[in-house]
Amino acid sequence: MNIELVGVVGAGTMGNGIAQTVALSGLKVIMIDVTDAALAKGVATLSNSLERLVAKGNLDADARAAALARIETSNDCQRLADVDLVIEAATERNDLKVRILEQIESVVGADAIIATNTSSISITALGGTLAAPSRFIGMHFFNPVPLMPLVEIIRGIGTSDQTVEAIREITVRLGKSPIIVRNSPGFAVNRILVPMINEAFFVLAEGIATAEEIDAGMRLGANHPIGPLALADMVGLDVLLSVMDVYQKEFGDPKYRACPLLRELVAAGRFGRKVGQGVYIYQ
Ligand code: NAD
Repeated sequence: MNIELVGVVGAGTMGNGIAQTVALSGLKVIMIDVTDAALAKGVATLSNSLERLVAKGNLDADARAAALARIETSNDCQRLADVDLVIEAATERNDLKVRILEQIESVVGADAIIATNTSSISITALGGTLAAPSRFIGMHFFNPVPLMPLVEIIRGIGTSDQTVEAIREITVRLGKSPIIVRNSPGFAVNRILVPMINEAFFVLAEGIATAEEIDAGMRLGANHPIGPLALADMVGLDVLLSVMDVYQKEFGDPKYRACPLLRELVAAGRFGRKVGQGVYIYQ
């Protein structure tokens, strides 16, 4: 399938990173958000990100200008009428996504592919709300999008082979590396990563090692770029706790029990970097 025009719905952290990546690969993008302020913020973020690439000598100024010229913005979903692919990257709320996807399906052409960047909502369930689930798929980018090479492609029960193949091709064209996984809570990567971080809280709570030692251990012994507890502070302890609670509920397996220390820190409001303290204290 020939994908030339891509719609990105949501201009936040992920949406503007996706728009930047798509534009840099030479494709045209229409980025949609509800307010002009959200669009302006998204454009400013990606524009600064491109500027940093120029400053580092990784992009020339003409390529930056050309990428910016390929990005159009709008707060009107009707502008998606001619896109070949839409990537939905709006706020993580089920009711909102169902509404947005319904609207997208009513606007785009019959051959357009509809993808979502959700990190936790079932691709099968979202696809089930559409008239044509065969053209619906998960396209899970990682944060920060311009730097992270992986796209986890998630096939729902109704996703067609043709859709999977088209998304695998476009992912490579975007300069990313795809893995293809079946729909399941947490998909593949977070299903492994989040329980690993949870286990680090158990090791800390049991007094087996200090936070600094646990993080150094995983950096130096497992070659992780960042220790699990420092990563927890970046992701947000509240987010990790809610993910563990979802896994425990959905799989019904006690192995996903959240560490009581994680729960205690969240109860204390120590959500991580965003509030200045989590496992560590930030100045
Ligand atoms: P964000 O809050 O930074 O951005 C969400 C954007 O969606 C906001 O700009 C908001 O105005 C916009 N929006 C809300 N309703 C809309 C509507 N009706 N139409 C168009 N835009 C609308 O959120 P984010 O972190 O970019 O997350 C977006 C999606 O990406 C979520 O599904 C999230 O689960 C997923 N995700 C996030 C990360 C991450 O690390 N942040 C990683 C992978 C996937």
